[in-house]
Amino acid sequence: MIDNSSIESLKNSIDIVDVVGSFIELRKAGANYKANCPFHGEQTPSFVVSPSKQIYHCFGCGVGGDSIKFVMELEKLSYPESIEKLASMHNFSLTYTQGSSDYSDAKRILEAIGQWYVKTLDQHSTARAYLLERGISQNSIERFEIGYVPKGQEVMAFLQSALLPLPQAVEAGVIAQSDNGQGFYARLVERITFPIYSPSGSVVGFGGRTISNHPAKYINSPQTKLFNKSRLLYGYHLAKESIYKSKQIIICEGYLDVVMFHQAGFTQAVAGMGTALTSEHLPMLRKGDPKVILAYDGDKAGMAAALKASEMLSIAGFDGGVVLFPDGQDPADLIANGQSDKVAELLRDVKALIPFVLEKKASEYNLHDPLDKERAFGVVKQYLDSLSPIVKDAYISVAATCLGLSPSFFGQTSTVEHVEESFGQSKDNLELLCVLKTLLEYPNLVDNVLNVVDTSIFKNYEGLFNLLLKGEFAHPSLVGLSIDETVKVMTEENLHQSLISMLTLYYKMKLQHIPRYEDMPMSKKVFLIKKIKFDILPRLKKGELVALDSNY
Ligand code: ZN
Repeated sequence: MIDNSSIESLKNSIDIVDVVGSFIELRKAGANYKANCPFHGEQTPSFVVSPSKQIYHCFGCGVGGDSIKFVMELEKLSYPESIEKLASMHNFSLTYTQGSSDYSDAKRILEAIGQWYVKTLDQHSTARAYLLERGISQNSIERFEIGYVPKGQEVMAFLQSALLPLPQAVEAGVIAQSDNGQGFYARLVERITFPIYSPSGSVVGFGGRTISNHPAKYINSPQTKLFNKSRLLYGYHLAKESIYKSKQIIICEGYLDVVMFHQAGFTQAVAGMGTALTSEHLPMLRKGDPKVILAYDGDKAGMAAALKASEMLSIAGFDGGVVLFPDGQDPADLIANGQSDKVAELLRDVKALIPFVLEKKASEYNLHDPLDKERAFGVVKQYLDSLSPIVKDAYISVAATCLGLSPSFFGQTSTVEHVEESFGQSKDNLELLCVLKTLLEYPNLVDNVLNVVDTSIFKNYEGLFNLLLKGEFAHPSLVGLSIDETVKVMTEENLHQSLISMLTLYYKMKLQHIPRYEDMPMSKKVFLIKKIKFDILPRLKKGELVALDSNY
């Protein structure tokens, strides 16, 4: 392993502008540098490198991080690999902790055993018959290097005869040490094998499917230094070119689905490692800026997985859609039965991500019951608030229709009141962002602000403020805010003025609303109007922060 202190001194000796600048063209822009984002296709530069913070951030697709992260994402390398790359770029010599290897033995073992699995399949007629029966062509078997792993003793005998070192075979996840520490056993036995490649094209593990009704249908290699389940996508190395060309990536549920999709000509198909799509997959999904099509089973589990993935993808700003295959018909079976046309038709008719999420969320509630409807509204609003303001605005009417509510519930400014309208103006939005950035830079001021206003006063940016309160400073939106040069940090005096004007606006708006409150007694209305007109507003005018009180 690379010594940690050596990684630290490497980090201290490199500059992010040099690192990023050696891969892409950077232009100076104020205190920062700008470029067209290398992670998503774009014409206007929204990719920013901050030398003072030593980070990069894309305002278009939301990627960001430090020098090491940049090399990892751009070159599709693992963490240690990108450290090694950076070190060699800067003539920096790393020190390694004793007795560790650079995984080259583990890689060699994975390759060798993969080739042996392929050869073994040739001699195993039951396994071959199974594959043919599932409709998998010889061409696909070769393209995906599908193999067969026999009994455990044979695996051990192969490793020994090929002189492959057992400790490194353990490191590669091929075998494991038995509990009593006396010997080794093969992790994968008597299964069809699917080699799993890293995006850069080396074998990092295997998936194994039983053909003898073993209760575990699929078993994957264990998590190793090379094999990280939550980052990998099966078939990506074969699909990559097609993903870039077609600007589409199809994510399906199983390895066999991927093989069959490719066989039917949909060579942009990949699958997760039997686990849900996670945020760790997002950097890989962004490459080539494709639309993400989720092609899942229409059963309960598939539907739930599609909802979770659609929510994550849409919040992360992905475009794409969902296709749920009708009950019991997985895409592999349809293609095997010669129904590729039907698959193509389903893929043409995808449901866009955001409407899918809105409809699914709404459908989980009984909208005829007012209380349930209110719960549904809360859930849907929370989701909408996590989208970017412009996207959110575009989908408010869809959300309102799903719930059978007026769009005004979601804060869409369709009313004619001029005070309310002025809240929506960009000048005020910028001011809100400046307040948020100030609080991001000076967290000690947060309490002062919370003493006088609540989160709702941040309107469109309420979600951003909540992230700040939760201390999620690494969240892309907050990182983006921190290096956005159009948003300035305020002085304490300006912050005070801003709060005064927010509160003034709030109370002026109240004044207009109070006469129209239907269930408030007249005497209370008169009292409140007097209180605001003759007490609160004059105090605000004098510069006193009158705490926001929702009773008024
Ligand atoms: Zn980008």
